[in-house]
Amino acid sequence: MRLSTHDASAQPRPNSTMLRPNLGPTSARPRPNNKLMDAEIIAIGSELLLGATIDTNSAYLARHLAAAGVNLFRTSVVGDNVGRIAATIGEALGRADLVICTGGLGPTLDDVTRDAVALAFGRELEFRQDLLDQVVARFAAMGRPMSASNRRQAYVPAGARAIENPRGTAPAFIAEDARGTVIVLPGVPYEMRYLFESAVLPYLRDERGVTDVILVKTLHAVGLGESVIGELIADLMLADNPTVGISAKQARYELRIGAKASTSAEAEVLVAAAEASIRARLGDHLTGEETLAEAVARLLAEGQQTLSLYEGTSVAPIYAALSRTPAGLDHVRGVLIHPLDRPTDELAATSLAHAGAISAADRWRSDLGLAVQAASTPDARGFTAVSVALCFPDGSRQATRHYDLRQPEGWDFVGTLALDLLRRHLMGDDQMTG
Ligand code: AMP
Ligand code: MG
Repeated sequence: MRLSTHDASAQPRPNSTMLRPNLGPTSARPRPNNKLMDAEIIAIGSELLLGATIDTNSAYLARHLAAAGVNLFRTSVVGDNVGRIAATIGEALGRADLVICTGGLGPTLDDVTRDAVALAFGRELEFRQDLLDQVVARFAAMGRPMSASNRRQAYVPAGARAIENPRGTAPAFIAEDARGTVIVLPGVPYEMRYLFESAVLPYLRDERGVTDVILVKTLHAVGLGESVIGELIADLMLADNPTVGISAKQARYELRIGAKASTSAEAEVLVAAAEASIRARLGDHLTGEETLAEAVARLLAEGQQTLSLYEGTSVAPIYAALSRTPAGLDHVRGVLIHPLDRPTDELAATSLAHAGAISAADRWRSDLGLAVQAASTPDARGFTAVSVALCFPDGSRQATRHYDLRQPEGWDFVGTLALDLLRRHLMGDDQMTG
């Protein structure tokens, strides 16, 4: 990928106040070879604000900036409006050294990002013959006539460096002044990704001295409340490097350790220390790099154990939980789905779960039977008693909890409870309390 710097001699300047490439409006040069400290992302497009398109570009850029060792402090989404985009860029430059924008580079009148960047930098848009040549060549290669509106794509803010886009018609560009650097990429995800990897990353490494690495490792935990986990690792969560964060998904927890260092090896040491500390505190609530479903699938395979399920509801939460991993159903011999057909209280649900686990295991002659049964009605607070039961050749174990099943996610908790009961049995832990 080629970064082209505008050749001033090739094209007459539209007006005399036009600035030389890479000079800011106050003639202050950008800090030479300054290390980029803080970055922000701005996703541009009214369709993003309407919820019609999901902003996957920001997530992609966030992951890759992290991997490159660039600190990302904020992402914004703004519609296709010149004033608001320019204001958002100006605010971002007030906080960050690097701003990456995506979207709004198309040929139609609603794509106004290049106008907005010019406004934010106090510069004119500049026609660039070299960019028009690229757009013309692309249409010629596709064997299609170029429409007049594509001419818009040959304009960039004066002094900006253009990034050729062999995947599409919209060239990307880099604009700089004393406040910082704005890199503008197309919104089409595959063009954006290509240009980020082939042009932006090399620019950051080669010209901006971005050499740090950020290593991120995700660990999984189950069976404790988010607040309990938070308290157990509070000091780790307050640390700057490595950082530790938790996100919760229906009683399954992802703990992300992020370490920043100048080499991968140093980052790995930092991550390993945090991981050891987390392991010591969370004990067997931690399933490590495996998710709960992955751990269960592996333990079933290692123990050569077969499993049958009894689902006392058409939601089939255990089946759904196991299906989260491709190998989850490899050792499942059969599934009995038997929605409740009569009023059932907590006590009855408990015995139905127990009987269900045994009947499923019998029916398919499997080593293990795992069952779930909920009571038919919630209590006054809206919580429903749910019992999960596991039977194995020489015994059984059971757990009963109360969940809000008015939300579909409530059943996710049930699947997690059932799989964790199974996981603990497969690990040879008989301490599980019912
Ligand atoms: P644009 O560059 O604004 O013309 O965007 C072209 C197309 O890229 C849009 O129609 C969207 O489908 C897609 N797109 C734009 N921005 C994003 C984004 N932040 N995340 C995912 N897709 C996007
Ligand atoms: Mg758009």
